Amino acid sequence: MNKEITEKIITRLPPSPTGLFHIGTARTALFNYLFTKQNNGKMLFRMEDTDKERSKKEFEDNITEGLNWLGIDYDGEITRQSERTDIYKKYLNKMIEDGFVYEAEESKEGDKKVIRFKNPNKEIVFQDLIRGEVKFDTSELGDFVIAKSLEEPLYHLTVVIDDFEGEVSHVIRGEDGISNTPRQILIQEAIGAERPVYAHLPLILAQDKSKMSKRFGAVSIDEYKNKGYLQDAIINYLALLGWSPQGEEEIFTLNELIEKFDIKKVHKGGAIFNIEKLNWINKEHIKLMSDDDFKIKVLEFIPEDIKNKIEENPELFNKILPIIKERIEKFEDIIEMTKEGDLNYYFEQPEYELEKVLWKDDNDLMVLKTRIEKSIELIESVGEFSAEKIKEAIWDYASDEGRGSVLWPIRYALSGKDKSPDPFILCEVLGKEEVIKRLNYVIEKIQKS
Ligand code: GLU
Repeated sequence: MNKEITEKIITRLPPSPTGLFHIGTARTALFNYLFTKQNNGKMLFRMEDTDKERSKKEFEDNITEGLNWLGIDYDGEITRQSERTDIYKKYLNKMIEDGFVYEAEESKEGDKKVIRFKNPNKEIVFQDLIRGEVKFDTSELGDFVIAKSLEEPLYHLTVVIDDFEGEVSHVIRGEDGISNTPRQILIQEAIGAERPVYAHLPLILAQDKSKMSKRFGAVSIDEYKNKGYLQDAIINYLALLGWSPQGEEEIFTLNELIEKFDIKKVHKGGAIFNIEKLNWINKEHIKLMSDDDFKIKVLEFIPEDIKNKIEENPELFNKILPIIKERIEKFEDIIEMTKEGDLNYYFEQPEYELEKVLWKDDNDLMVLKTRIEKSIELIESVGEFSAEKIKEAIWDYASDEGRGSVLWPIRYALSGKDKSPDPFILCEVLGKEEVIKRLNYVIEKIQKS
């Protein structure tokens, strides 16, 4: 009864537009997409918007835009269940005629009628690509409701009809859909639809193995996008939520995933969402970005005041880019960097207290002055102003004096920060003239003190 994977593969992506594009939906979309692409199949996209109260156009747009952003495309036009009422009605009438469904009171008290499915009360057995054989006794489901009226079909019915009419061969969806499967198989049998192959994906769980909820943190793709995660990284991370590749490698592009993904190797157990892992994967993908792409993305996140400074000094900005790349895991981290003042000092003389320039137990400002003067002299002598050459020029002197006593003051004079890149890199980025200016500023401060 089950189709084999050798036939034309048709999958479907049927989100309900009742909320923002969720990571779980994105993961389901991705697994469908990977499976479809690697089998030269077709993926249908439909909005399951029969719930008129909760379905919203803005959510539909959000889901569609999210898929586009991730680079997951589908075949053909998007369809909407809300526009297919007549089709469902035709099936309902036929089912009434054939005696599979009947009109009945919604409840004992009410006078409202609904359409119920006449449950044959039997055991349903289906093969799940991930879970193997699954058995259900449908008798506990009773005569379940499949439509509120001929014009108001409900989820189980619309799914089955759409999958049937779309000739869907594979239903790949979240584990929460597994308990719906027996009902849907009963309806398939009633309308004479062939049974698709099922694959139920493990749920995505929070660290404590609870269900992912708002409490857990960001659950919509938008939130990740806004935090400056790259689409490639999200795709890469989602692929690993419930599936593991063979071998050690974990960083993949979408095309590599299409090649490597194996639906039969998807895990049965819940997939735990691990933000550190996502951050790591994002950083790996940042490293793979071209310089130009990286720069464009940085500019998207950099605050306005720094942007103005960049416009005045684009060359300096180019030099800072590798430092930013080193520091961030996601582009939102740039905002944190600027809040901490970790970018400002590249563009302007930092202010600080003179005492801070002294290394640990050093306390003699006159000795400091001598060391700064000597450092200036050594830095003056550097020809090609690279971190390496600057280091060569200062290293011996610093080693003799005590490295901290020489290198810390340089670093502090240049950045005004306890934490910053090493002094040689700072020198190279700022350029000789600016470095000497900032070192002289320390001397001025000492003289004034
Ligand atoms: N509209 C359902 C959902 O968003 C899809 C279930 C299915 O794949 O059949 O959960």
